[in-house]
Amino acid sequence: MRFAILSDIHANCDALAAVLADVNRQDVQVVVHLGDVVGYNTRPRETLALLREHAIAGVRGNHDLMAIGKLPADQCGPVGRKAISWTRKVLTESDCDYLASLPAELRLAGGMLCVHSALGDPVVRLHSREQFAEEAEVLLQFDAELRVCFTGHTHLAQLVEVGANGVVRRVPAADVELDPEAFCFINPGSVGQPRDGDERAAYAVFDPDTRRLSFHRVAYDARRIMRDNARRGIKIGPRTGATGSLLARLLDAAP
Ligand code: ZN
Repeated sequence: MRFAILSDIHANCDALAAVLADVNRQDVQVVVHLGDVVGYNTRPRETLALLREHAIAGVRGNHDLMAIGKLPADQCGPVGRKAISWTRKVLTESDCDYLASLPAELRLAGGMLCVHSALGDPVVRLHSREQFAEEAEVLLQFDAELRVCFTGHTHLAQLVEVGANGVVRRVPAADVELDPEAFCFINPGSVGQPRDGDERAAYAVFDPDTRRLSFHRVAYDARRIMRDNARRGIKIGPRTGATGSLLARLLDAAP
């Protein structure tokens, strides 16, 4: 069985629709998301409708929690805060119920777990080798059967393998077969707001039987969502995380 892993859609329904069409052309049986389905971009209702229409299960991200008032928005930069307060005004009760129903983690068969960032913490950013080694230990204490953790939040696609010898290896986004001895963290990148300078929507496909992982990029017309955002006074593009300027990125560093 092959899984498509989507993360950080961020209310970009055009990017999500393009990814779902691409997934549809592949031999994929299950699609899951890693949270941050809303925030930043300004098509949250259409995005939630697509997720419900396709019955895509997933977990909650920090922006999802901020949008329903379960996490303070002050950890976010000014652009992110503005987008969250705009999002709060447009979500219906049933949209909020959907976001509130998202679990913190989602266990999949085959020793796989989905979280937004880390177990029990959708805000912390996993960066260093030490963090990944510690998180692997935490996850194995949580469930000794786990072998793979799908994690989003940073908007950067990558594979991190924590070897049986404790050595942590970062593997850039490529098509690979996972080390059967390693504990693997897979970040599929962001559907709606990649932060690697490539505006194409990102996602990953994983087959737990063969342990083959592939990272995918999908081109779509990003101008429509940018126009919508600008019309609503939110200067965010799908390429760099904010307005594209370094200053804006620094001010808006909360993933
Ligand atoms: Zn995010």
